[in-house]
Amino acid sequence: MKTKLKPVKLSAKRVVAATNHAIVPLRERKLNFGDKWNYSPAPEDSKNYVIAPRHELFIGGKFVKPHSQKYFPSINPATEEKLTEISLADATDVDKAVKSARRAYDKVWSKMPGRERGKYLYRIARIIQEKARELAVLETMDGGKTIKESRDVDLPLVAAHFFYYAGWADKLKYAFPGKTPSPLGVAGQIIPWNFPLLMAAWKTAPALACGNTVVLKPAETTSLTAMRLAQIFQEAELPEGVVNIITGAGETGTALVNHPDVNKIAFTGSTEVGKAIALAVANRSRACESADNRVLTNAATKIPRLTLELGGKAANILFEDAPIDQAIEGVINGIYFNQGHVCCAGSRLFVQEGIYSKVIKKLRDRIQTLRVGNPLDKNTDIGAINSRPQLEKIRELVQSGVDEGAELTQTQCTLPARGYWFAPSFLTGVTHAHRVASEEIFGPVLSVMTFRTPEEAFERANNIPYGLSAGVWTDKGSKIFKMVNKLRAGVVWANTYNKFDPTSPFGGYKESGFGREGGLHGLAAYCRLE
Ligand code: NDP
Repeated sequence: MKTKLKPVKLSAKRVVAATNHAIVPLRERKLNFGDKWNYSPAPEDSKNYVIAPRHELFIGGKFVKPHSQKYFPSINPATEEKLTEISLADATDVDKAVKSARRAYDKVWSKMPGRERGKYLYRIARIIQEKARELAVLETMDGGKTIKESRDVDLPLVAAHFFYYAGWADKLKYAFPGKTPSPLGVAGQIIPWNFPLLMAAWKTAPALACGNTVVLKPAETTSLTAMRLAQIFQEAELPEGVVNIITGAGETGTALVNHPDVNKIAFTGSTEVGKAIALAVANRSRACESADNRVLTNAATKIPRLTLELGGKAANILFEDAPIDQAIEGVINGIYFNQGHVCCAGSRLFVQEGIYSKVIKKLRDRIQTLRVGNPLDKNTDIGAINSRPQLEKIRELVQSGVDEGAELTQTQCTLPARGYWFAPSFLTGVTHAHRVASEEIFGPVLSVMTFRTPEEAFERANNIPYGLSAGVWTDKGSKIFKMVNKLRAGVVWANTYNKFDPTSPFGGYKESGFGREGGLHGLAAYCRLE
């Protein structure tokens, strides 16, 4: 289980001191629409969707009790109410799941023609579309994200990933001209809590399309929709054992990584855990190398292939010639989307000096209009923070920013009395030496800095261990090309932000990991090409 961080409270005095300067008087607020800005509450109806009090493991196409006989609660972070109990899988369960995936691989899935595999994936995609409303509601209750986002972003993308990779299943030989693709075997996939269903789709759809079988481990705080996905696999009559879902904590993930019969590990999560996984895999290959003094091939030794999608601290670069109002919307979306629980969040804003005060004024004005509260309300912009430890981490980092001399601006909203909440915030006066300039906060907090020239902008943007994503806002196409070529980031958005599509690859450089998910690159990660 997760160790609880010592609660750190932002000192109220400090925050007030830091935010007083930031309050824009009502008469000066351009975005003050008076009573026209008030919406009636519009909560999504969650009563129609029944959540079983307990969820078992999904192994060999059936729901089975965990060997440990232990369960842990899944909490709604917006209310702190227990939603259900989730099984705690131990090493015996992991072994059972891997054996089940191996059997399904050997006997059924790897032998099935691609066009048949594709039919299953299409069927899964269509069932997801049919149940999209229910899945969106469950995702919101389990993870705290707004219904607006789970309904309009997560779920459409989940279905799109299954549709997209269903289309590739019978065309793999055209995907890689001159090469013959074959599946790798059993894929162990570990996913985080920020986009639970979407990450499950990113991982399982390409693996299945290529003929691999899967053992999936969702995050401890957000396993509910993965278990609902297991029911969808059953409804789609996916052959037994093709996908197995084991729930639990970090130890469950470790057991999966260390299992000797897994051919591929795909991980999305923190850089810290990613490094530990890379080390575990490297140690296995070193052990094989020293056994007889030569390096054996992956196939011979079952050293798993590895892809890692880790943290980020993206630079969103705003030039003087950018269309400012559109850019402000992009900055807001870049950092406050999904409460900032986004690995590619535009969490460092670099503003060209000439427009700095104008941008800050507009940002102050705009964040006041963000509606924080019940994630099931269709009007809500910012939902709940995923868990108490994550809230404590955000508070601790923001406090460090204030202590190191940055100025904090927060919305003046009233946060709900129960649940985990953090008001949308940004920090100005941030220097490169501050922790908030380089550490991933993973919350609704933006660090704002300035620059003078394009060279300074990309050098400062790149001067960080991460390299996942970046954004550029300018009127000049030539400047976009210059910046895109210089920015060391896996994804660079120009005059937009946080746009995702199953056809485009996603992944990082440096401590943001390696390997790509999405598009053709995402297929290559699950094939042996000879
Ligand atoms: P983790 O990296 O700890 O968790 C990601 C997944 O890995 C979860 O399923 C987790 O299980 C599992 N896991 C944890 N420890 C191990 C291990 N030793 N071996 C194998 N699997 C393991 O991220 P957290 O969820 O704790 O978040 C911490 C920080 O990570 C965030 O604050 C954020 O900075 C970053 N993060 C980055 C994400 C990204 O998309 N790049 C996504 C999520 C987090 P369990 O949930 O049970 O601990």
